[in-house]
Amino acid sequence: MVEEQLKPKAVIVIFGATGDLAKRKLYPSLYRMFRSGKIEDFAVIGAARRPWTNESYRENVEQSVKNIDMRDKDLQAFSSRFFYQPVDVTNSASYQDLNSLIQELEEDFHTEGNRVFYLAMAPEFFGIIAKNLKLHGLKDSAGWKRLVIEKPFGHDLPSAKQLNEEIRSAFDEDQIYRIDHYLGKEMVQNIEVIRFANGLFEHLWNNRFISNIQITSSESLGVEERARYYDHSGATRDMAQNHMMQMVALLAMEPPINLTTEEVRSEKIKVLRAMRSVNPEDVDAYFVRGQYGPGQIAGSEVTGYREETEELQDSDTETYVAGKIMIDNYRWAGVPFYIRTGKRLAVKSTKIVVEFQNIPMNLYYENKDDQHPNLLVINIQPEEGVTLYLNAKKDKVGHAEPIKLSYRNNLTDHGINTPEAYEKLLYDCLLGDATNFTHWDEVALSWSFIDSILAGWRMKRPAFPNYASGTMGPDAANKLLSKNGHHWWPVEE
Ligand code: NAP
Repeated sequence: MVEEQLKPKAVIVIFGATGDLAKRKLYPSLYRMFRSGKIEDFAVIGAARRPWTNESYRENVEQSVKNIDMRDKDLQAFSSRFFYQPVDVTNSASYQDLNSLIQELEEDFHTEGNRVFYLAMAPEFFGIIAKNLKLHGLKDSAGWKRLVIEKPFGHDLPSAKQLNEEIRSAFDEDQIYRIDHYLGKEMVQNIEVIRFANGLFEHLWNNRFISNIQITSSESLGVEERARYYDHSGATRDMAQNHMMQMVALLAMEPPINLTTEEVRSEKIKVLRAMRSVNPEDVDAYFVRGQYGPGQIAGSEVTGYREETEELQDSDTETYVAGKIMIDNYRWAGVPFYIRTGKRLAVKSTKIVVEFQNIPMNLYYENKDDQHPNLLVINIQPEEGVTLYLNAKKDKVGHAEPIKLSYRNNLTDHGINTPEAYEKLLYDCLLGDATNFTHWDEVALSWSFIDSILAGWRMKRPAFPNYASGTMGPDAANKLLSKNGHHWWPVEE
């Protein structure tokens, strides 16, 4: 339920306030909300171990938002709401000091006891923080309390369950906001609208008219400075278990009876339950993994994954995954949902291609192979928009050619009016709208699907590297589609 009041009041405690996520995403998001007047009565407490002061913290916060729009007056009014509290989250004495500061700020900033605890820290600390917040009375204020947590949520189903139990011992499910920042992206939020507000698509949105759906999220960068984290994760855990599964669920779900959090989530959960689980022995029929070798990106030579740092030299971690997901329900029986994601690929692009079935006899193409099916392309990033491929008359009488109808979201204004994913999600959380956050059941179902893929892969060592940097991934990913008579549609513009 969204609260009526659209200018939420709260003290926001950011654990991990000196870290990368806080600096790159959270402070700029809060600043945009402040500048656009969405939040007025608020204060932020930054908590981390470094011995910063309020002054040095505010300088850091100002630094991290300076490139957005510099108006000194606003900036000072903004940063004066930030307070720093040195905290070691493993030390229970820290929590009493923190509680005293929160209570003091609640008086000064009239936040009515509403508290957000944002855990911008490594997941191994989530459980201990949640427990201590409860134990030391930080949940005992008069207002609402919400806990925001980042990915990764576990590295398999058992670890996710354990983490969930630890958190749930202190917070109720409806107080927990699990961020999947893809759900804050404009065009991901648009999937539902494109489907459910257009009879043109929704009437055809099933196995009678759709041939297959392809979801690509490709990166041209390698692992860069995230090598250590990434090597324990890999493309499947880092991208497929969360972001790709969420997009599949949004594309495949039934229309909810209304747009409340409960109804939308319940439809997504049904899709995740209907996904055909892959027997580990059959993994190669459904999933392909890859790791990049040396190659060229934008004309420059780049090294392979195993040469990125010394500790990766024997790594079997996949930097690429492609899969065929079958949804065994009445609407989707027989329609493959293909997903692929990877690093050091030819282009950076996140895109959904819905391929409609060809008509049985196309009079306008001499050669059947030249026929171009109708495609609906949802561009998520870097471009945002929708493209529809139709067939229209060609110069020569009796011939057709594909044409495109394109709608492009106006991205020229990257300034204050363009809310980014984190900003939207943070605002939703302050309003108490959990629709675009992940429910535990979604996390559990997607881990159980992914765990059997990973179990299948553990049975044999991969022959890595198996794709050159600057290509679109291993050849086996093309074969995955061609054996069904499909092929990947290009994702470059
Ligand atoms: P990071 O830069 O390593 O920051 C970690 C933060 O935790 C630092 O502020 C550190 O501050 C603090 N910290 C560590 N141990 C502590 C302790 N015992 N007590 C109190 N504070 C402690 O990590 P990050 O990149 O911001 O990532 C944070 C979380 O977000 C992770 O779960 C990550 O997977 C997730 N995430 C990050 C991104 C991103 O873009 N960075 C994207 C998606 C998800 P001190 O050293 O001062 O204590």
